[in-house]
Amino acid sequence: MKVVTRFAPSPTGYLHIGGARTAIFNYLFAKKHNGRYLVRIEDTDTKRSTNEAVGAIHNGLDWLGINSTEKIIYQSKNLASHVKVAYDLLNKGFAYKCFLNTEELNDLRIKSRANGKPIKSPWRDSKFNSEKKEYVIRLKMPHNGTTTIKDYVQGEVSVRNEILDDMIILRSDKTPTYMLSSVVDDYDMGITHIIRGDDHFNNAFRQIQIINFLNWDKPSYAHIPLIHGTDGSKLSKRHGATNLIDYRDMGFTSEAMLSYLMQLGWTSHDNNDDDYELKKAVNLFSLEKINKSPAKFDIKKLNNINSRCLNKIDIDEMYKLLVERFKLVLNIHQEKRLKALLPELLKRVDVYIDLKDDFEWIIDDNFLCNEKNKVKILQKYNLIINEIGDFLKKCEWNKETIDHCLKTYIQNKSLKFREIGPILRIALTGKTSAPDLVSIIYELGCTISLNRLNYKY
Ligand code: GLU
Repeated sequence: MKVVTRFAPSPTGYLHIGGARTAIFNYLFAKKHNGRYLVRIEDTDTKRSTNEAVGAIHNGLDWLGINSTEKIIYQSKNLASHVKVAYDLLNKGFAYKCFLNTEELNDLRIKSRANGKPIKSPWRDSKFNSEKKEYVIRLKMPHNGTTTIKDYVQGEVSVRNEILDDMIILRSDKTPTYMLSSVVDDYDMGITHIIRGDDHFNNAFRQIQIINFLNWDKPSYAHIPLIHGTDGSKLSKRHGATNLIDYRDMGFTSEAMLSYLMQLGWTSHDNNDDDYELKKAVNLFSLEKINKSPAKFDIKKLNNINSRCLNKIDIDEMYKLLVERFKLVLNIHQEKRLKALLPELLKRVDVYIDLKDDFEWIIDDNFLCNEKNKVKILQKYNLIINEIGDFLKKCEWNKETIDHCLKTYIQNKSLKFREIGPILRIALTGKTSAPDLVSIIYELGCTISLNRLNYKY
């Protein structure tokens, strides 16, 4: 059997990190089994679905590199097939037309709440038929016995059929409900494994009745626990950003995000290091290793993973990311300087957005420190700084010589490096914390370095 999975988001907002993780698990499972991974946009709720939200879903999946390479399915295009199935169920006696009006339905709701049982429509056993009177089509849920689902994550769970309500599968305006559409699409798409949030686990017991009535092949299920915040409650905006793409905008790399989301709720015991990358994760993935208890989203962990990723990232790739993100227009000298200093700079940040403060001193040939407090320091040490500039002027431009030159000057003057190092750093970068001084001087080059050191404050 060829494995076919799907990610089926409703395009009503942004791509939530929980949704992204569901997509990742579907992707990993399909790839692990050389199967197919499909994306189905569940856009039947015309009031809430928007094109922007569809765009946001694709954006997020593309960013993580886990969009489907196959044709994207739009549920709204399949409505005719869902309606056909609703009438099929009706004609076979597995569903019925329910003519209850709002008032009658409300009365039944009150009764059902009082006795703790699902609503029972009197139309279930009626022979009455009409096309003129408004109706919905309800599924005739079995009353006896139990329904058992062997879920990869939740285990084997049974429910008594008497608690299942005769759910609506076709509304009075002849539109199918999610409960029907999703099942029919899964069947038409040949989905073998349904991997989704456990907020849909209850739905599975009701949806499977349609599959039973129609004698369709049953898919396997894996209902994954939702992501929680570190305080143990369901992840929401008060814990921080829940929109996947916000993390891109905050300067996280897609590799880090992917790595973190992959391990959020999935533990691979064969994996000794913390960072997962897609290919490795495909090999190691199994649904059995998804944890049954909710995973906690911990921004500190994500920060750590991201900072590790930044230190491994290809410099040309990082450079491209920065140029795009900050709309930098650089000549070849500026490009060379930035690329050369990037490895050092990346060691000092968790997210690459924090490099923003370093662009000016690296890129701007004419940069001079102009922060009041720092200028005061530079004024105080102006003579020494100028002298070092003159000293460096004579030296051959390589790191060893620059290093030697600085050390000689410091020794000659009976100074200590920690007395003069921070001041030179301020003169060259405007910052107290910056990469190694010799690297800064070397990469900025002779002209720029000397201009900054010889300046009269
Ligand atoms: N469209 C549903 C959602 O976004 C998912 C349905 C499913 O996976 O079956 O929650």
